Amino acid sequence: MPEGDTVYRAARLLDTHLSGRVLERAELRVPQHATADLVGALVVETVSRGKHLLTRLTRDEERWTLHTHLKMEGTWRVFADGQRWSRPAHQARAVLGVTGTQAVGFSLGLVELLDTTEEHRAVGHLGPDLLGPDWDEDEALRRLALEPERLLIDALLDQRNLAGIGNMYAAELCFVVGLHPHTPVGSATGLRRLVRRARQMLDLNKERAIQSTTGNLRERERTWVYRRDRSPCRRCATPVSVAMRGPAEKERASYWCPRCQPEPDRP
Ligand SMILES: [Zn+2]
Repeated sequence: MPEGDTVYRAARLLDTHLSGRVLERAELRVPQHATADLVGALVVETVSRGKHLLTRLTRDEERWTLHTHLKMEGTWRVFADGQRWSRPAHQARAVLGVTGTQAVGFSLGLVELLDTTEEHRAVGHLGPDLLGPDWDEDEALRRLALEPERLLIDALLDQRNLAGIGNMYAAELCFVVGLHPHTPVGSATGLRRLVRRARQMLDLNKERAIQSTTGNLRERERTWVYRRDRSPCRRCATPVSVAMRGPAEKERASYWCPRCQPEPDRP
């Protein structure tokens, strides 16, 4: 699952290659927008909001926003004209071409064309964006506190509280502040520190191709607990635990060190 920093990098990629240029090719390969005619539109910019991408376009009096979301498997890639695509063409959900360059969105979880004035319908529900210019720590903490019974990990993944955290950062952040992922938010101490670390982690990783929360970029040493179940904890050598939670088709794994992140006291 792509995290906020991955989406930020995708926005930068599209911005670098498309902004200020006119679309010579524009295909939205989703039934709802298959006939959309965007050729001749100027690409104004692409920005990320949490894990959402907004590509703003204009032609004459019209203003559109192409809203895309990577969901589980999606990615945006850029190719020179004539270059072979790195993924099968049938996975392409959006193709935006300018002279010499094609940007292709593969396996996008969402492709939606909005009037730019309607962007709030796509991203208005989001909490403060960890990588956004309008990041607001107090507001994120206020939102997290609204449902004190909720498990910390679920509250962190809820993009309405704060935007940009996926499964990896959620697990890693709980470890870094020594909280069990299943601690009710209302009894979690040190949330401000956790939220600050969240911003630092995403900010550090947004400029690099390899994500690491440990500072170590070597394979298998990039995370503290995420996907390290049964491996020894890097701090205390206790085997890392894993548990599945959520409905069968949307199961998510929690990872934690039973010693560094003790179980919350049951009321
Ligand atoms: Zn440990």
